[in-house]
Amino acid sequence: MKSYNKNNVFAKIINGEISCKKIYEDEDTLCFEDIKKDAPVHLLVIPKRYYSCYEDFVTNSDEAYIAKFFKTVAIIAKNAGIVDGYRLITNNGSNAGQTVFHFHIHILARMKTTEL
Ligand code: AMP
Repeated sequence: MKSYNKNNVFAKIINGEISCKKIYEDEDTLCFEDIKKDAPVHLLVIPKRYYSCYEDFVTNSDEAYIAKFFKTVAIIAKNAGIVDGYRLITNNGSNAGQTVFHFHIHILARMKTTEL
């Protein structure tokens, strides 16, 4: 597992150094649009605490924070106007395609209500 490096792009989004198209924010979680969409809806949900990947998050965070994070992912997906289901993806490690080493969940969906 990679150690956490605070120079990564999502850490810079959390601290405001880099802007994002924000969809949702609370004290623990931030959601914004992926800069390179792989689907009509492509959101990224990140915890504001620093974990390099999924394995780091579930191993080293506390259970209440983990549960709240995953419930927030569901609320964001529900409020995103997605009509017909969605996919959740996390790439755990560079061999799996992870390129940004701040844990994140991709929400991908084909369609929004407004596009019907
Ligand atoms: P992964 O390959 O699973 O680590 O996903 C990283 C994702 O972050 C990719 O889908 C990128 O398109 C996205 N990404 C990289 N930089 C930014 C940025 N500044 N704002 C929004 N999304 C980004």
